[in-house]
Amino acid sequence: MKSPILEFIQSLHARYLAVDEGRVADYIPELSKANPKAFGICVATRDGHLYEAGDTRQGFTIQSISKAFTYGLALEDRGEDHVLSRIGVEPSGEAFNAISLQEGSGKPFNPMINAGAIATCGQVLRKDGASRFDRIAEYLSRCAGQSLSIDEAVYRSESATGHRNRAIGWMLRNFNILDEDPDEILEAYFQQCSLRVTCTDLAVMGATLANQGINPISGERAIAPEFVDNVLGVMATCGMYDWSGEWIYRVGLPAKSGVGGGILAVLPGQLGIGVFSPPLDGQGNSVRGIKVCMDLARDLSLHLFNPSAVPQTALRLSYTGNQMMSRRRRPAMDFHYLKRFGERTRVLELQGPLIFSTFEPVVRTLVRHAPYCQQVVMNFRHVVNVDPVSMRLLAEVRSRLESNGIRLLCCHAQRFRRPLLAAGIPAGAIFDTDDEALEDCETFLLAGAAEVAGRSPDAVPLSECDLLSSLSPDELAIMEAAAETRAFAPRQSVIESGGDADEWFVLTAGTVEVSLPETGNRRRRLDVLSAGMSFGEMAFIDGSKRSADVIATEPSTCRVWSRAWFDSLDQSHPALKIHLLHQLSRQLSARLRQANLEISTLKS
Ligand code: GLU
Repeated sequence: MKSPILEFIQSLHARYLAVDEGRVADYIPELSKANPKAFGICVATRDGHLYEAGDTRQGFTIQSISKAFTYGLALEDRGEDHVLSRIGVEPSGEAFNAISLQEGSGKPFNPMINAGAIATCGQVLRKDGASRFDRIAEYLSRCAGQSLSIDEAVYRSESATGHRNRAIGWMLRNFNILDEDPDEILEAYFQQCSLRVTCTDLAVMGATLANQGINPISGERAIAPEFVDNVLGVMATCGMYDWSGEWIYRVGLPAKSGVGGGILAVLPGQLGIGVFSPPLDGQGNSVRGIKVCMDLARDLSLHLFNPSAVPQTALRLSYTGNQMMSRRRRPAMDFHYLKRFGERTRVLELQGPLIFSTFEPVVRTLVRHAPYCQQVVMNFRHVVNVDPVSMRLLAEVRSRLESNGIRLLCCHAQRFRRPLLAAGIPAGAIFDTDDEALEDCETFLLAGAAEVAGRSPDAVPLSECDLLSSLSPDELAIMEAAAETRAFAPRQSVIESGGDADEWFVLTAGTVEVSLPETGNRRRRLDVLSAGMSFGEMAFIDGSKRSADVIATEPSTCRVWSRAWFDSLDQSHPALKIHLLHQLSRQLSARLRQANLEISTLKS
């Protein structure tokens, strides 16, 4: 099946293929040889997928588009303050090649005009035997994800005719914006402008900026994340020559164009766009490139200031610990206690990226619920990333909850373990699964409960076991007599999945886990049973095989009845059998009710 997105990009290409406006740049003689009919469009997504139409693999010189990237390298080499002291960030309102510098200081207005770009080039350091240009070429190549080389003919042509840029270089030297004579810097500048790229390269370089500096195809860090917004900032205000204001108004994307006919545009966080078509308009921007970007922005609603792109709340679901309980099955008394007081546990399921505007509603919800809570669980299962601002807010929330005596637990959060620890969440409060976190909350609630505090959970007489507690002393005696006693060591198997289901167990001491094997050594936990609970009896009703493993997690004791004995009750003690079946159906209906509640909570 053909992608409708690819079809859209191709239709855009077809729409403007016949446009016959604009003129190929000729002030650098070699550029005038460009084919005016060449035309390519490429959109690169933040995860590295390319949509291409037309001449996307044809090489051309990057020209001014290089300026944005060299600016990033200069910031990395010298730091923001130093670079800002030499080169401003104000749109100049003058032509790209104007010999105009700020009055008094001689500072170029911004790094996107030639004066600023040459000064920027002078800020790049020579390092470890690599020349300025080597470092620039390497930096741009990392952004493109492949080694870019010079178009020698264009370079020689520009160097031979670049008198105006040389004049600018000497002016910068005069004002000590350049610390050394400009000859070598100018050559590096001419060379950087003569690097050959394709339309696809431009889109990938754009996607690298969109992806916080990591090339989405190679996965390599190409631009230090702290300078990505600086680069995009100057592109947004100064990237499109003397049409920058109109551009940001109409298209609304940080962009840079070059006289080679390329335009690179970026939707931060989302995608990069590369367009190539040599004929230029009066401002020096590719005529077709502008038309394509205007249509892309309008039809795909890419304008940066378009409110349809506003992120939604990170709060996916909010419920209490009695609406959703852990898989741990507990004796009836504990279960009823947890049904009653489980609302003191608040679970917040989060989703998407955590940034200020998505996390703020989560904080608001927490502030509202805190007075009624004893513990809060944050579930990170559907969180894709957490930015430093929301981590800071989380640290604040944690310390405020703590000073109000409220525990904060996190689950499905191993991916964020390091920042969570840094935010003050103790290692013991970070759980692999929501089930484990809920179980911990339940155990915590029970430990504080006066009703259950005195009772030893270790050994429960049959008369207190859930299914048997309403039997008469005579009936209990019959049960006692028929039961076999079995002891299990920790990690010993009690039941194996797939086996015949011909026994019914009541756990009178210890704990067993019901689970299924997963990949590797991991097991998926389905249930945890504590003393007083029964298991294995369901198969007596539907005759199925064992569907899971049951393993003791501590020294445990079970009382066991055989199916043959259970069947024989029809003849020997029918009243006892009816009683047992009645208890069984009561228990099943209670579990079904809880399951229904959990399903409706998850669906809400
Ligand atoms: N190398 C060109 C120059 O300095 C770049 C111009 C541009 O693309 O704006 O004239």
